[in-house]
Amino acid sequence: MEQPFDERRFLERYWHFSMPDTILKTDRTIFTHARGCELFNQFNRRWLDFCAQVGIANIGHHHPFFVRAWFEYMRMIFEEICLYDRPAPVWTMIASDFHFRFEIKVEGETLEISHGALEEMLSRHTFGPSTKFIKGLSGADSNSDSVKFVQKLTHKPYGIAFYGAFHGRLGSALDATMSKAVQREGFFIPSITHHLLFPQTHEEFDYDLQILNYLPLSDYGFVMYEAVQGEGGINPAHYYTIELLKCLREKGLLLVCDDVQTGFGRTGMWFGYQNLGVVPDIVTISKSMGSGDPIGAAFFDGANPRLAGWEKFEPGWDSSTFQWNPHAVLSAIATIRAIERENLVERARLMGNYLERAIDYALVKSFPDGDLSVGGYCKHKGIGLHRGLEFRKKFSDGRDVPDPKTRDAVLALLFENGIVTLGAGNRDVNPTIRFMPPLVVTEKEIDEFLHALESALVHTRHSTK
Ligand code: PLP
Repeated sequence: MEQPFDERRFLERYWHFSMPDTILKTDRTIFTHARGCELFNQFNRRWLDFCAQVGIANIGHHHPFFVRAWFEYMRMIFEEICLYDRPAPVWTMIASDFHFRFEIKVEGETLEISHGALEEMLSRHTFGPSTKFIKGLSGADSNSDSVKFVQKLTHKPYGIAFYGAFHGRLGSALDATMSKAVQREGFFIPSITHHLLFPQTHEEFDYDLQILNYLPLSDYGFVMYEAVQGEGGINPAHYYTIELLKCLREKGLLLVCDDVQTGFGRTGMWFGYQNLGVVPDIVTISKSMGSGDPIGAAFFDGANPRLAGWEKFEPGWDSSTFQWNPHAVLSAIATIRAIERENLVERARLMGNYLERAIDYALVKSFPDGDLSVGGYCKHKGIGLHRGLEFRKKFSDGRDVPDPKTRDAVLALLFENGIVTLGAGNRDVNPTIRFMPPLVVTEKEIDEFLHALESALVHTRHSTK
């Protein structure tokens, strides 16, 4: 008789090959199929994906328009190759060195699949026809590209970023490269980045201003920031953050907004930067751009006088074999059309309001005595469908400290109760759970999540008393 597949034995069989990374190898399951907000394992156990696979699945898993686009593409290839023995639309072409273009018909629409078509679609939601794109492969790659771009443009080696920021884990490949001058010209590697507080109060803002007095700002080319720090604990930029960005801009630094996690409707706007009222010079995107296919970009307004000089960059200053390859471009175009056709950005705003109220309701139900002077409590933060709960504890002597233990317990209980979420923030500063479901999430699914959250909060509250 056939033995049922044993998840644990399967995982253990390969453990020794892997270097440590972020996969939780022991205590989770193996997801085998998915649809919309739902994830299933081989035993058909169902979870709601309240982290959209770390912000990749804004249109949900297997969105029908996205799937149809891929079906038409595969069908064309199958027909040409297997039925007619003719050349088929590109599959393995090295996109960064050659042009490609093909069309597919999806639900009555003709989609042109090319770099230009993707750039034009994106420009409609960003800086318009004067938008310029630097092609990227991932979030870290697009951020590295933006820093290279600033260094080459400004000849300044330094940059500023913030405590709590997450911009990627890419290393120093360019540092080891020595093939053509254009590949290294004008780049300082690594960029030397000074970190400031991501100011949320007047005191923090003042502190940052004091620090700026010590920095040789004329050597600083950029400040990189997130509209909402995701990995850092769902910290939306505060009014003081915006003031600080304006101040840095006045001092000549270029504003680089990392929209990798906040892009493609997550916050109820096409891009997170559009919530802040301060227009960045450069924006970086990735994650949900390809709904699972690796693709990213750094883009800017070519008419922005602060960026004058980009026209003189020679070909070859930036490129990578797989960037914007035909598959990734097809996925990005299908993703953007799915968002446009279903108005998912507006939907994220509406569902974000609903989720915000649901979380507040769960907090009131779980902590009926309100903001206690003593005991555990949660801070609710976020914009749109990008929300988080920070776990803290107050003591009678006035101390207010992070509570990572309860955070971990709630995270585990949510998983047990059928909700996949992610931790965020620093254990010793602001232990947080982030909630970022696909934008197609329904009210019913949010209600389901609410019950699981309520039960996890009540349960941990009693067990940690
Ligand atoms: N920037 C932000 C805001 C992110 O959230 C992430 C990933 O979580 C990155 C950059 C890095 O992206 P990648 O993992 O694709 O390199």
